[in-house]
Amino acid sequence: MSNELLSDILENHHFNQVDFKKSVREVYGDIKSSSLNLNEDELMSFFERLIEPDRSIRFKVEWFDDDNKLHVNRGYRIQFSNVLGPYKGGLRFHPSVNEDTFKFLGFEQIFKNALTGFPMGGAKGGSDFNPKGKSPYEIKRFCESFMNELYRHIGAEIDVPAGDIGVGVREIGFLYGHYLKLTSKYSGVLTGKHPDFGGSCGREEATGYGAVYLLKESLKKTDDNEIENMSFLISGSGNVALHATEKIIDLGGKVLTLSDSNGTLHTEKGLSKDELTKVKNHKLEKRKRLKDFNSNNSKYYDETKPWSFKADCALPCATQNEISGDDAKNLVDNGIWSFVEGANMPLDQNAVEIVTSKDILYLPGKAANAGGVAVSALERTQNANYSSLSCDEVDHRLQNIMSRIHANCIDNLEKDSSRKFYNYKTGANIYSFNKLYETTKALRL
Ligand code: GLU
Repeated sequence: MSNELLSDILENHHFNQVDFKKSVREVYGDIKSSSLNLNEDELMSFFERLIEPDRSIRFKVEWFDDDNKLHVNRGYRIQFSNVLGPYKGGLRFHPSVNEDTFKFLGFEQIFKNALTGFPMGGAKGGSDFNPKGKSPYEIKRFCESFMNELYRHIGAEIDVPAGDIGVGVREIGFLYGHYLKLTSKYSGVLTGKHPDFGGSCGREEATGYGAVYLLKESLKKTDDNEIENMSFLISGSGNVALHATEKIIDLGGKVLTLSDSNGTLHTEKGLSKDELTKVKNHKLEKRKRLKDFNSNNSKYYDETKPWSFKADCALPCATQNEISGDDAKNLVDNGIWSFVEGANMPLDQNAVEIVTSKDILYLPGKAANAGGVAVSALERTQNANYSSLSCDEVDHRLQNIMSRIHANCIDNLEKDSSRKFYNYKTGANIYSFNKLYETTKALRL
């Protein structure tokens, strides 16, 4: 009965939003089959509340390119839930985005932020603006125009955006600079800022490092596995992918692949620290494509994803639905025994079904990529009391936070004794759902 009711609500109110509906159904399925003591009516009525964003803001962004030609893009901010704290979540600039993208990302963000233990609600936003190939002046003009509208909806105690795909330290600088001009409020309303003007040391590294710290923690629950004996297939070559790679190399593991939307770079013996430094410079500083990266040790495969190679762990760090059912099957047939989601929802529905039907270590994005937003929470605290933590202190706290997230995921779970690994996906959903349910009742009945 309630399954049908949920379908009705999703079809009537969220028609055509495939990713959002997938994200909702996943949580619903986990909660319904859990031992949480909720009757059908209570569960349904809470879900109805949970899946409607508090506010969906959409606005026009006009900007001029370097030839003085006018362009019009769409800006979005989905303020999904502030039950657990001020809205918090990144801004994504990518031509593929639409309301569906930001609703699914905002919904996931509520659960991710809850898992960190910090008081943060969930939000997401951005624009269908494509930063690829734009000059720094064009990016700056776009960011300023975007902020001309966004500034009236955000604030240190209201909604605190950060970066995501297409929005890094440079863009956060332009956005923050313009916010300061518009409001004269030096209140740290964005996180992911450069440390020179209130950013936290280690924020850029945090998502990638955090994913590896969570994996390390989960390996302690198995007797015979350590990162130094593992090989990894990583997708993406942005912030998350390259910093996850850095931490894995530091811990003695082998990273065999990196990728971008054009193809995959494969290194048989594993990328060295020197090569990683060169890739970082090539991708993050020079903003070039992997196909133009020259290396004697690696081979570039055009129009190929990393998922056809053999390794121990798949660490997707690019974007949603990047691992299809066929990719997952291929990976599992090739002996992969762990999946760590550096990106948000990188496994499509068929891939999730394949991975969860097997005894595989599966760390979902809500837990595995929460290190970034957790260090954003540290940045907010530092801004609020005009202080700054040392890089070592941030790293130390990040490790503790990832341990706490790990504990939150498994504390409510009975481990299936026929399996080697815990069901972290269900554990993460139950922990966050419970927290949201109890807090909503306490605040709003
Ligand atoms: N975009 C990141 C995420 O998906 C970071 C969000 C933040 O720091 O607010 O979690």
